[in-house]
Amino acid sequence: MVVRTRFAPSPSGFLHLGNARTALFAFLYARAKGGRFILRIEDTDQERIVAGSEASFIEDLKWLQLTWDEGPDIGGPLGPYRCSERYDIYERELKRLTKLARVYRCFCTPDQLDQDRKLLSSQKKVIKYVGRCLSISEADATKRAATEPFVWRMHVPDGAPVTIEDSIRGHVEMQREVIGDFVLSRASGVPVFLFANAVDDALQEMTHVVRGEDHLSNTFRQVLIFQTMGYKTPQFAHLPLIGAEDGGKLSKREGSLGIRDLREQGYIREGILNYLSLLGWSPGDTGKTGEKFKPEELMKLFDLDRVHKGRALFDFQKLNFLNQQHMNDLSLAELERLAPPKNSAWAPIWKDALALVRHDAHTVQELYKVEKFLGQPDYQTDNATKILKADKSKQALEKGLQYLKQSLGENKALEEGLKQSIQSSGKDLGLKGKDLYFPFRVAITGVEAGPELVPLAKILGGQEVVHRLERAIQFAG
Ligand code: GLU
Repeated sequence: MVVRTRFAPSPSGFLHLGNARTALFAFLYARAKGGRFILRIEDTDQERIVAGSEASFIEDLKWLQLTWDEGPDIGGPLGPYRCSERYDIYERELKRLTKLARVYRCFCTPDQLDQDRKLLSSQKKVIKYVGRCLSISEADATKRAATEPFVWRMHVPDGAPVTIEDSIRGHVEMQREVIGDFVLSRASGVPVFLFANAVDDALQEMTHVVRGEDHLSNTFRQVLIFQTMGYKTPQFAHLPLIGAEDGGKLSKREGSLGIRDLREQGYIREGILNYLSLLGWSPGDTGKTGEKFKPEELMKLFDLDRVHKGRALFDFQKLNFLNQQHMNDLSLAELERLAPPKNSAWAPIWKDALALVRHDAHTVQELYKVEKFLGQPDYQTDNATKILKADKSKQALEKGLQYLKQSLGENKALEEGLKQSIQSSGKDLGLKGKDLYFPFRVAITGVEAGPELVPLAKILGGQEVVHRLERAIQFAG
């Protein structure tokens, strides 16, 4: 059996943490099993379609490199892969179903259905369709259909409970009495989601349906459709919801955090995929420590039986940590491509500058922190002022500058020269530790913390370091 999985977004939104995790798990499972991954656009609900949504899904999935083997853009043997192009198929299958089960026209108005629901709820009864139109004769229904709006419903006769052996949730079942007769299609021929989705999964020969837990309640009705129509029921895998770290629901901001947002914030593909993979899945004993996995490793290791059913907890710190780990694997040239210099004057020194800050950066955007050290330092901040105007700071800088000029004059390397100048200045004035180093650090960078001073000085060049020391001395008064 060739494993076939799919990602089936509705083009009413965009790729965010939740549905990207679904896409990833379906993709990884197909890859791990040497199967095929399919993209299907579920655009039957025309009212909810958002212009540009399909294109943005495709762009973001491509950026993540969750490449599909069949899809609306590339076609494939079991297409079309856009539901709005499959109406004839749904109509044909509905007709077929009509012969296999009791499928009837329901003329109940939304108001009536609403009242039914309220009544059932006040009587503390299961909310389901009351079956009002089940007894309308075929002749009457055909007559009424000429003038009245209706939907097609499938009757659920009594019988054994509907069961699902879910890869993640295990055995789940629902009594038929709870399900009630459900809608398949509107009079216009537009199928409802759960019917079209089941037909497509069957005819496109999905072996595994990997999707969010929110779809589990639909699945019982879909299983009835699969069984009645003689389709092979796929293996279902309902992924746990993603919750906030404190155990609550994700905030709106987190829940709708787009893959595009993350990309703009400087998260790289490898970091995001690794992070998403751990939202519900754990690798088990892989013989290595830590949770860092490259996409290629995930494509080998992933399995649905290691997805847990408990809520997956969203943790920004972990995303940062993993992203940093994957950034560490990139070469300086790759980092430069992701974070090019914004100021062309810095182009010649940019790679060296990135090397100075790369190990502290969690995101590509954080690499730009180095700009602060390349530009002229600001001595006006409270901290810088305090340090530069402290007792002996000015003297230390003057001495240091004197030594540095001398060593540069003798053509000594700047790195050695600066180190020795600071030390000699300290010796002359009896200063050490912070009292000695902070004035130099602040003079050259404007702040006490930051990248290593000597390599930074090297990037800036001797002339610039001299200039900064002179400016600082002037500022110190
Ligand atoms: N179009 C559905 C959604 O976006 C997909 C459901 C499924 O994967 O079966 O939620």
